[in-house]
Amino acid sequence: MKAVVKEEPGLDHMVYKDVPEPEATGDLVKIRVAYNGICGTDLHAFRGEYASTRTPVILGHELSGIVTAVGPEVTKVKVGDRVTTETTFKTCGHCVSCATKDYNLCAHREGIGTQINGGMAEYLVSREESVHVLPDNVSLLSAALTEPLACGVHAALEKADVQEGEKVCIFGSGAIGQMVLQACKARGCHVLVAGLPQDKERFELALSAGADRCVDQTTEDLGQIISDLTDGEGVDVSFECSGAVPAANKALEVTRRKGRVIQMGVFKDAAAPIRVDYILHKEICYMGSRSQKPSSWVTSLKLLSEGKVVPEKIVTKIVPLEQWRDGFESVARGEGIKAVICCSEELAEQDKQRS
Ligand SMILES: [Zn+2]
Ligand SMILES: [Zn+2]
Repeated sequence: MKAVVKEEPGLDHMVYKDVPEPEATGDLVKIRVAYNGICGTDLHAFRGEYASTRTPVILGHELSGIVTAVGPEVTKVKVGDRVTTETTFKTCGHCVSCATKDYNLCAHREGIGTQINGGMAEYLVSREESVHVLPDNVSLLSAALTEPLACGVHAALEKADVQEGEKVCIFGSGAIGQMVLQACKARGCHVLVAGLPQDKERFELALSAGADRCVDQTTEDLGQIISDLTDGEGVDVSFECSGAVPAANKALEVTRRKGRVIQMGVFKDAAAPIRVDYILHKEICYMGSRSQKPSSWVTSLKLLSEGKVVPEKIVTKIVPLEQWRDGFESVARGEGIKAVICCSEELAEQDKQRS
């Protein structure tokens, strides 16, 4: 089969080539991949900046497809099922995080597209526990975005636990900020999105997905806007999805006393100075939200089937598997929001006809 392989560490070292098809042994499910999204971490892997990547490996962890074979220990998933898969392939199974299915925190976790072959290929295998059969009304294209959606759901609904009517400010309007926005709107929050002039296209998308206001911080005073909106109190919840230290500090500034600030962005400088005085004097709950876990997937697929989120709105480019490089380059140039690789024209065509 054809696949996009990161062959060795360092910049690039990526090739589109023939590799053996994986086999559905044990509890494994073999999936013919329909779509696979290109994530920021894939770009880091391309540039050789992502230390967890184990080479050689097929990249890709945001995918959907059809089951073509199942291993002898598989009991629920069947050949022909339309599916997506969580990115967890292996965990230690006995740490405190595994006991509560917080697999995103297991120190011995191995993930699809990082340590284990992923979805930028014609086929991949995933363990049955990680595979989710899609509700009938969810398309393969939107299902390929379940992973980033689940990251937004984990942050908004599981960590921040936003409530109807709460006022929220999201810093960063890339794919993750957009997914947090959709999760918050599904809960009925009032949402501001804060960014910079280069976010113009992202702001338009955010507004079309229900954002109540987008604020370009170079021309508008975000602090004043939030003060006016909240009688000087500040927003209930802020999400830092940009990885910019000033955004994190601004989030701490504009969030109310006893509010929550959720850190999702990764800082270039891990030792960046954070305004601890705000955390202390306003009793802010400043917490991290790292990727997603099984419960986030269940909630995401429910929201998808209820039509409360439309993650495929963020797809701005689709390229065939052999043109993966074109997709990566457009992501690297910062064009659009989400580029997706179509791994099977045939499945894409079937998907279009169903909807
Ligand atoms: Zn991702
Ligand atoms: Zn564990």
